[in-house]
Amino acid sequence: MNSRRDFLQKLSLGIGAATLTDLTPGIAAPVTSNVPADKQLRVALMGLGGYADIVARGMKECKTARLVGIVTGTPSKIPVWKQKYGIEDKNVYNYENLHEIKNNPDIDLVYVITPNSLHHKHVLQVAAAGKHVVCEKPVADNAKQAREMIAACEKANVKFYIGYRLHFEPHTKELVRMREAGEFGKIMHVNNYAGFKIGDPTQWRLKKSLAGGGAMMDVGVYSTNGARYCTGEEPIWVTAQESKTDPVKFKDVDETVTFQLGFPSGIIANCGCTYNFNHVEMLRLMGEKGWAEMNPAFGYGPIRGTTHKAAIDQPDVNHQAYQMDGIADAILNGKPDPNVTGEEGLKDMLVIDAVYESLRKNGAKVFIKK
Ligand code: NDP
Repeated sequence: MNSRRDFLQKLSLGIGAATLTDLTPGIAAPVTSNVPADKQLRVALMGLGGYADIVARGMKECKTARLVGIVTGTPSKIPVWKQKYGIEDKNVYNYENLHEIKNNPDIDLVYVITPNSLHHKHVLQVAAAGKHVVCEKPVADNAKQAREMIAACEKANVKFYIGYRLHFEPHTKELVRMREAGEFGKIMHVNNYAGFKIGDPTQWRLKKSLAGGGAMMDVGVYSTNGARYCTGEEPIWVTAQESKTDPVKFKDVDETVTFQLGFPSGIIANCGCTYNFNHVEMLRLMGEKGWAEMNPAFGYGPIRGTTHKAAIDQPDVNHQAYQMDGIADAILNGKPDPNVTGEEGLKDMLVIDAVYESLRKNGAKVFIKK
């Protein structure tokens, strides 16, 4: 990144490529929750990079979910995380002995936060160990893998969720509530863009073998998911175009993608995503009776939104804490699943597959395969 401001913006969008190195020893998280220990969801994080650290810090605010374990391939991170988050030795794993987690009664769920193309393998391993699993976005490299992950979790009788934190975020939830209540009338158009200017050219996000794709995989998922929660419909076709202004840096993955989603009602969402410019985090919904605009729409917050009526007046919350407590509530208290199941990840993946197929076919219209 060019500046600290850009760096913060990238982290804020939740897509940062840089690993947070803010792992200086600190004091273990105080237990502030009133929920008895035997009623808490005990979580291990897998892949201790930039986003895992943000999740770990957020989880200090959780009431029902509690960080108790780690899975890492980097031994030097272990003492730092043990001290910073109060992790006990018995809850520390690496990628080779991960299967042994099945014998650990003190871990209920593993949260997979590794590079995209490892999600499939890691979720299958966690399911085989009989633990519930949260997997970061994008769920996998393609819909076929996503289906295999869903099937493996069903077979193992464990819950499978995707880290779609915005589904727990109050401004976003209010937008969806208003749409469902008909306050915008019939939705006529949606427009949204997500992205940032990516830094270090050697990072895994620019390698197809670890990232699965470029901007479309990483941040196109926000535009796609946003278009789906703005319309409440599932797209049936896509067209897509890529602009590549830096073919050297983006030789392996897509740089900037614009794509259109066609919905059964006949409306079209215009979407985009980029890895090559900043300040791109907007969503606009236009209905027959009203409109909503969110900007910033996809970052860690604060999320800001306005409608034809007024500003969306909702509290700013810690996304990661709300997400993990929401998931804990569903698992422990039998509440309905939040809208972040593996199926939700699969629905976005079907769109992403179709976008890449359209790109390969020079922007041809591609019908989404269910
Ligand atoms: P980082 O590169 O910062 O961290 C990834 C971690 O994965 C590494 O630190 C490493 O942890 C582990 N890892 C295992 N194998 C490899 C490998 N071959 N190469 C590199 N790392 C490896 O990535 P992020 O934390 O930014 O992203 C991780 C995932 O989280 C991605 O899927 C991304 O899309 C998602 N994400 C989601 C966000 C959201 O808002 N929902 C925000 C940011 C990212 P260790 O050394 O412990 O093994």
